[in-house]
Amino acid sequence: MPTRNILVLNSGSSSIKFSIYQATETERTKLFEGALDGIGSGSAAGKFWIKSWVPEKGGQPGDATKLVDETPTVPDLATGFSLVAGALEKRSLPHPDAIGHRMVCGGPTVTENQFITPELIDEMERYTAFAPLHTPAAIYIMCEAAKLFPGVPNFVCLDSYFHRYLPEVTRHLPIPAEYSAMGVRRFGAHGISYESIVQALQPNVPARLIVAHLGNGASISAIRDGIGIDTSMGLTPTGGIISGTRTGDIDPGVLLFILRKLADTAPDTNTAADQLEKIASKKSGLLGLSQLDNDMRALRQAIGEDNAHARLAVDEFVYVLRKFIGGYIAVLGGLDMLVFTGGIGENDTATRAEVCAGLECFGLILDLERNKQRGEATISTQGSPVTIRVIPPAEDLIIVEHVCRLLQ
Ligand code: AMP
Repeated sequence: MPTRNILVLNSGSSSIKFSIYQATETERTKLFEGALDGIGSGSAAGKFWIKSWVPEKGGQPGDATKLVDETPTVPDLATGFSLVAGALEKRSLPHPDAIGHRMVCGGPTVTENQFITPELIDEMERYTAFAPLHTPAAIYIMCEAAKLFPGVPNFVCLDSYFHRYLPEVTRHLPIPAEYSAMGVRRFGAHGISYESIVQALQPNVPARLIVAHLGNGASISAIRDGIGIDTSMGLTPTGGIISGTRTGDIDPGVLLFILRKLADTAPDTNTAADQLEKIASKKSGLLGLSQLDNDMRALRQAIGEDNAHARLAVDEFVYVLRKFIGGYIAVLGGLDMLVFTGGIGENDTATRAEVCAGLECFGLILDLERNKQRGEATISTQGSPVTIRVIPPAEDLIIVEHVCRLLQ
């Protein structure tokens, strides 16, 4: 394979992350990385940064240089992408030979990572309701990237790809058949992160593995012999364990209660449904419980100041997580390894300790000293029957791998 520059674009509901890798036959080297956060947050400033990993003269390989560090106001996605596009062009970053886009879910007919065509975009657009906070932004950016770099091939990399082998009992939802026939089922999310953890464990992937991806969005998966067999998120990333601003699994009666309340004042059903979506996805979870913040660092600080709401939020987050871990141990028929990943999983040593406390009966023995480490580490005791590890996800690298494979 000739040397190629691969641009990875990863858009969220309020952020655009990107990186540029140089890929040769055998090596992948990160050259640049950047992110724009705070899209659509009114007059509040966002955060925009770009770092270069290209060694400077006299610099050490691995030293990053900040090329951009700004706090622009970004009212909408279009403004956000034009900022990123401008930086990609003006900063003379390498012209991409291929572009990989992260996509949460392409719908029931788009289940493979593949070359993006206008027909594929039309097909994925039919299923924006399956990841309403993510899909419209991802599709917008796919279209804009194609205009910005005409002739450069674009590829979609799906989170749902990792979960493509979910067995029928976890994939199928207990709803009337007519809705299942519309493609409503469990797709799961964070699949690219799970894929990167399984890849990091190669060639010794444990037979019975649980990975907890604990970021602002949080999910957990049961993985047998490297293949996902259950995952907490459902049709959309709003289901599952509690996330920063999302309810996770909840009695449908609660949603109906809120919907009826909203319908009292909303002009029509769609408006009420949109409002409900915002409540379930953006105002609930750790934020709703704590009445304070969705950010774990802020909650830990508030707990330090005896804030009872923050304490309840984190206790509930941990409690639900422990219930899922217990359930997945039953699903897997035991456990060989638990991996923590994502911003909370990698950094919040208190959450890891609280989750593992009481799971000793399943053979998970946390080493409190080792658990003080941040980043990649084994944090179980030497003799723990189940190994507990922390592994940062490498999602962009997985996207680069798929793009390289598809280019060939
Ligand atoms: P992510 O979505 O993976 O970027 O993770 C974001 C979450 O990780 C937020 O809740 C952050 O508060 C949390 N987080 C990041 N760094 C730390 C840290 N040093 N200690 C505790 N939580 C952290």
